[in-house]
Formats: sequence, C-alpha cells, structure tokens
Amino acid sequence: MKFFFLGLIISTSVLAEKNDLTHRPRSFLVSGGKAVFVDFIEASYKISYHVRNRSAQVIATIKFNTPEAGRPIFDSVEDPSSITLNGEAVYANEIKTPSRETKVRVINKELPIGSHTAIISVPLKTLLDWRDGGVKSAFWISDLSERRFLERYLPANLEYDQVKMKFEIEFLGNKTKQKIYTNGVVEDKGNNTFAISYPDYYNAASIFFHTMPETTSDEVRFSLKSVDGREVPVVIYVAKPALKGTSSLETLQALTTQIFHELEGDYGAWPHPSMVIYNAGQGGMEYHGATMTSTSALGHELFHSYFARGMMPANGNSGWLDEALASWRDKGYQTLYELSGTSRMSNQAYYTRTTDYSAYTFGERFMSLMDGRFKAKGGLKPFMRHILEKRLFAPLFVEEFIQEMSSFYGESVEEDFRKYTFGTKNSFQKSLSHEHPVHQKMSIEELHKHL
Ligand SMILES: [Zn+2]
Repeated sequence: MKFFFLGLIISTSVLAEKNDLTHRPRSFLVSGGKAVFVDFIEASYKISYHVRNRSAQVIATIKFNTPEAGRPIFDSVEDPSSITLNGEAVYANEIKTPSRETKVRVINKELPIGSHTAIISVPLKTLLDWRDGGVKSAFWISDLSERRFLERYLPANLEYDQVKMKFEIEFLGNKTKQKIYTNGVVEDKGNNTFAISYPDYYNAASIFFHTMPETTSDEVRFSLKSVDGREVPVVIYVAKPALKGTSSLETLQALTTQIFHELEGDYGAWPHPSMVIYNAGQGGMEYHGATMTSTSALGHELFHSYFARGMMPANGNSGWLDEALASWRDKGYQTLYELSGTSRMSNQAYYTRTTDYSAYTFGERFMSLMDGRFKAKGGLKPFMRHILEKRLFAPLFVEEFIQEMSSFYGESVEEDFRKYTFGTKNSFQKSLSHEHPVHQKMSIEELHKHL
C-alpha cells in the first residue's frame, strides 16, 4: 500500500513537470546564442521591508531545469541589482520576443541541459506605501496589460510554469505589527517576520499577497461547508477607513455564501483550501481562491476560482476562455443559435501574454453559441464540469480545450473555434465593444488608493 501512495505522489509531480515542459514556449535566437524558456522547480523569496529608510528588497533563489541548451529566460520588470548563476556573477538584459509581443530577461550565459540555481536580487519599488509606522504592500496582478503578473514585483517565470514558491518576509523598524492576507499558509515567526508557503501548482498568476499595519483593516472570518464535507475557511476584509463603493462585511458575507453554493452546485467542490476576499469596492482580479473585488464583480471573480485559477490558461491565447465563460455566467448563461463576425482571441502573436478584450463580449457570445450547439446534450455546463475534473491545476492551450470539448461531445468543434476565434482580426457587431468589462485596467495610482 505504502508503495502505491508513494507512486501516486511521484506521478503527480512528474505530471506537473511534464505539463510545464509541453507548454514551454519555443526558444528564439538572440545575439550571441539561443534564448530558452526553462522549468522553475522551486523559488524562495526573501523579502525585506526597511520601514525607517523606506526601501524594500527581494532576494530570489530559483532552482530550475533547462530542457535544452541555451541562455535561460526569466522575467522581472525591475532591473536586477545582482544575479549569480551556479555561483558565477552574470547579468540579464531585457529582450523583445521575435514579433515584439513582449519583453523577457535573458541571462548572458549559455547553459547545458540540466539543473541550475540562480540567485537574483531586485529592489521592490512597486505598490508600496510607508505609513502608520509600517508599510502597505501588495502584489496585485492583471492580464490586460503587459508584464503585470508576479514579474512586476519579483523575479518569476511566465504563466506556463508551475513552481513551488516560498516567501520569507521581514519587516524591520516597524512601530506596529503587520497583517498579511494571502492564499498561502502563513507562519508567524514573531518579531514581524513571517514564512509563507504556496502550493506547487501555483504559477505567476496565482499568488494573492497584501500586507498592511494591523490597525488599518477590518475583517470577518467564517467557514463555508463544501459539498465534499470540508469547512472552507473564509476571510473577507476591507481597508480602514472603508473606501467609496465598498459594501458592509455582512453584506459581502451573505453574498459570498450564496455564490459559493451556486458555484459548487454547478461545478463541484470549491477547488481551493481557503477563500480570501478583499472588498475593494472597485476593480476585480482573480487569484487561486482569492480576489480583490467590488460587490458587483464578486460572482465573476469567484467563478474564476474554477475557470482561470482551477482550469488555468498556459498563455495569452488561452486567456480568453475563462473570461468568455465567466461573462457567459454574468449574462445568465444565454443560448445562441447563430453568430456573425470573427475574432483573433486564439490567434494573437505567439509570445503574447495578455488576454484579448473581445473575450468579455464576442467570447461570451461564442460560448452562448456553443451552448446552443450542444443543447440536446445538456449544453456547455456538463463539459465545463468535466474539463475541471480532468484538467484541474494543469495549465492548458486553447488547442487542448478544443480537443477536450470535441472528445466530450463526440464531434469536432475545431471548425467553430477556427471560424470565430482564430481570425486575423476582431471584426464583429460594433455595439459589443461598448459593453463594460468586469475587469478594469487600473493605473498604478488607482491601485495605490486600494493599498
Ligand atoms: Zn474575469
């Protein structure tokens, strides 16, 4: 029996690694060699906040495998102050991908196939507010603009790569105790130092992290009984004083409870160990079992804990799937039998990391159309439940989604996706583009207001 379980554990981690490798983008030529995407195995981040001199630093220790020889790629929006690779000092230039879709960092050192360790130091400068004898800091993300995942704050890899991440955090010179809201397991080590560990299926779009002096937030904690028998711990919190547009914590608790049961009824047990909700009154962004949200976006964001952070996109061209599905729910799961127009939601340039805006509108109509197509087989919802069970926490390409749908219904949907999502441009009914997307592009100034 023991061996059987050991076998199971080994095979899930092997599967995760295999999934990373099969979704790794193609290498490309840079001056002096070949830039290769790698597989992060473990990333430990030491994060130090120096309250007195108002500065913060990150030292990332990253163990990774190179499945092909070449210059390793990672990303960090901030310029690293130092990098050592297998003990040797190196540097990493910011390089544009071949069609100029995005930028990444390429280390100036050719590596053979194998295991390596990089230690990367970067200043943490984004979304910090030094006040009340402590600091407010968050690693909020967005998929609507370039390089707005974890790489905006810490050295990280692209969305395809799942990696075991750990934070070691120290706050130095505080006058108050810091509070941390996050979707990992927090260990308070005393003296304003904390260790946080995150599940090994997380990627650069998974972590919700928000810290502030403990006097500056209000919260309610409760648990929700899942259909699988678990009591899922929930925290809903709000900044003090409450920002414009926020509902009371009681209102949010009631609404959260109702949506939780609706989603479990449709798609099965809540896929995450806990739930964290930041009642920000604005915006809306999803994380694994967590969200920063307004009251009106709450249903959309919690849905994303199933589709986006349950069934996970592996790149920009698969990012529209979960937005289209979430918007389909927002609009009351409508059914269509015809649709005119086309889009390039699945057909952006190869290295694109962002989600096409058409997902919310034309993408929603396309899902309504697919629901109509399979009405006799129960519509789209049975497939959604099926793919969650089959592909939970295994980032996928749109091509794999198409394949899964075709084999689930026993007929090919390739032609439908090709016609409506693999176009060369977005060309559909104009009125659709006036609809308001749930996720707003938030400027850094707007994000600061919510710290
Ligand atoms: Zn969304």
